[in-house]
Amino acid sequence: MKKRDYLLYILIAIICILVILIFAKEVLSMKRLNPVAAKVEENKINIDTNNVKIEELSDYSVRANVPIFMYHWIKDDTGDYAYPENMVKPDELKKQMDYLHENNYDVIFVSELNSLQHYEKPVILTFDDGWEDVYRIAFPYAKELNMKFCMYIITDLVGTPGYCTIEELKEMKESGLVELDSHTLSHPYLNELSAEEVENELVGSKNYLKENLGVDSKVICYPSGRQNATVLNIVSENYNYGLLMDGGVFRYNSDFSNLYLIPRIYAMRSMTLDTFINYCETSLVNVI
Ligand SMILES: [Zn+2]
Repeated sequence: MKKRDYLLYILIAIICILVILIFAKEVLSMKRLNPVAAKVEENKINIDTNNVKIEELSDYSVRANVPIFMYHWIKDDTGDYAYPENMVKPDELKKQMDYLHENNYDVIFVSELNSLQHYEKPVILTFDDGWEDVYRIAFPYAKELNMKFCMYIITDLVGTPGYCTIEELKEMKESGLVELDSHTLSHPYLNELSAEEVENELVGSKNYLKENLGVDSKVICYPSGRQNATVLNIVSENYNYGLLMDGGVFRYNSDFSNLYLIPRIYAMRSMTLDTFINYCETSLVNVI
């Protein structure tokens, strides 16, 4: 082989190595810039996308990251409750809501996940169980900021001590800022029930919301996130969306996403504002 050919091969080899090095540096710096996104990617839950095809095919696809935060109580004093992480402090919740307001996030309802193309920075706030704290603390502040949130009601417990009354739920619903949906009749582990019992919990709570609040509930929040194939089959006949307890940022793809297994972020008491903001900053919508 001629000396000139050798030089040519060496030159090509050097160019290849340079290209690989530049590419590797890009990938590494992307992960460094966005540690939460990198972490979300690592922890991505394995959603079964085979069993349900949600959306009609349209002329375009929507890809989005939607942080959906999950709360329960709003309390300063945790008392002797065994799971204080379920109790966000009122001031912390206000700081989080202020951040969303000041930074022009689109705080939407779960039922608006099928129209993400209209938003740029979607985020969802969800409150499980129907605690009265939500009416007393989150609702007045949401009205001040004109901010939406979602609430999941254990319908057998409406009006019992600590839970919202039917009048309070009505007032929130009529404000247009609160989307009320089902968290079953009695908060059982759905995966441990017979098909008949599951149907009773799912249809019974849906009927309650319809009859007492005029709500046509399209969202089921699985108690403790528990579900199985039987539950999902019955859910798909009665609801359009199902919410889990964890799983991180919802990575939505209009062609493939299973809207019956929507992950959420546990907004625990110890979550710092910085962590909350890092999750929010992953929010984005791409229309392809
Ligand atoms: Zn619950």
